[in-house]
Amino acid sequence: MKKIILGLASIALVFGLIGSVGAINTASKKDQKKKFSLPENAVEVSHGVFYLGESMNKGEVVEGYAFVHYAKSTAKSKPVWDDTVDIYKFMRGGLKWANTIQYKINPSYIGGLDQNDVEITLNASLEIWDSEISFEFFDSITTTTETSVGFDGTNIVIWGYLGSSGTIAQNTIWFNRRTKEIVESDVVFNTHYIWSAVENCPDNAMDLQNIATHEFGHNGLGDLYMPKSVELTMHGYSDYGETKKQDLGTGDVSGIQELYGN
Ligand SMILES: [Zn+2]
Repeated sequence: MKKIILGLASIALVFGLIGSVGAINTASKKDQKKKFSLPENAVEVSHGVFYLGESMNKGEVVEGYAFVHYAKSTAKSKPVWDDTVDIYKFMRGGLKWANTIQYKINPSYIGGLDQNDVEITLNASLEIWDSEISFEFFDSITTTTETSVGFDGTNIVIWGYLGSSGTIAQNTIWFNRRTKEIVESDVVFNTHYIWSAVENCPDNAMDLQNIATHEFGHNGLGDLYMPKSVELTMHGYSDYGETKKQDLGTGDVSGIQELYGN
């Protein structure tokens, strides 16, 4: 008798588990609610920059930093600055890649957008940087089934839930402490927002090419928060419907050429 009860209990348990896993799967597919959050021990070292700790790569110490991109309305401000402002900032004293960067998307997590639109848009954001420098900076987007944004050798671009407090996207960068070479970059776009990959971004959406171009700039360039950087791609804030970061400003080009040659 005991055995039968135990058997029934485990059947119920199995069905219960299957039931809840099924529900989570449906929700995650429907809402693209895969959650990403910074590790609990992440330390904010400057505005929007979080130290994630160390890892090992081929016997060498690598460090991780997450660069968080926040929403901020610019509707009320009347900028007196334009995109000819020639300022830029390097990350952690000058990090750069030694090799061409290969980003991969996971077609199961692309924010409800069309895969073809996402690939075309992301490739356009990569190309705008690539075209300014002599170094072969980026390869075209390919796909993966991976979902991890940890240090794992895959440079992923993925949609997931980053909370509702204004984070639009984040780029996690891992680099070799000794050589200052970047060894991994993972970009997450927040499913809290509606994303647009069409030419005229609606006022209630985030323009993918606008935000992606900024995020890809973090392969060497840091965020700028001063008022006169407001029209540059590496300005640290973006807004709904904004498209001005699709093109690079003078400071963005100067910075990337200083790192990778022209
Ligand atoms: Zn940024």
